[in-house]
Amino acid sequence: MKGKRTTRQRLQVLEAVRARNDHPTADQIYLDARRADGKISRGTVYRNLAELAAQGEITHARIPGADRYDLRQDQHYHLYCTRCGQVVDAPIAYRPEDDAAVEQATGFQITRHRLVFEGLCPACAAANHHKPAPREELSDHTNHEGGITHAPEQVCRHPDGEEPSRSL
Ligand SMILES: [Zn+2]
Ligand SMILES: [Zn+2]
Repeated sequence: MKGKRTTRQRLQVLEAVRARNDHPTADQIYLDARRADGKISRGTVYRNLAELAAQGEITHARIPGADRYDLRQDQHYHLYCTRCGQVVDAPIAYRPEDDAAVEQATGFQITRHRLVFEGLCPACAAANHHKPAPREELSDHTNHEGGITHAPEQVCRHPDGEEPSRSL
């Protein structure tokens, strides 16, 4: 009964996607689906995700870091927080006229365009504001030419970095 099993697994994967609205990665879907069915394999989940996306049941969003899946079926843009990695839908409409304009200008047959706005989400922006970024400019005092035979032991590390491990 291969067909029945395939259909059931397809539905399990689809339900796992529809159960969340945070643009999960394929791996998150796999973990959710496995909670419902301990025997479902990662390969099965990934294959079903790809097929569901190809059929337009779900949307496949290319986001830096990992591809995400989306229960929305319409074309839309995304916001991506480069600090915490969250993905949310952008509140502006898809612009089909851009597809038409590019098609006309290039001769490419455009099927769609993808747009990801990158930056900091409000929570990360607030955290960033309260705590100045721990990025220190490396000042140019490493260039002591001449004379010095024994440079003092220098440990380069960020102020919030790990303690350097000493082997001696
Ligand atoms: Zn964030
Ligand atoms: Zn989305």
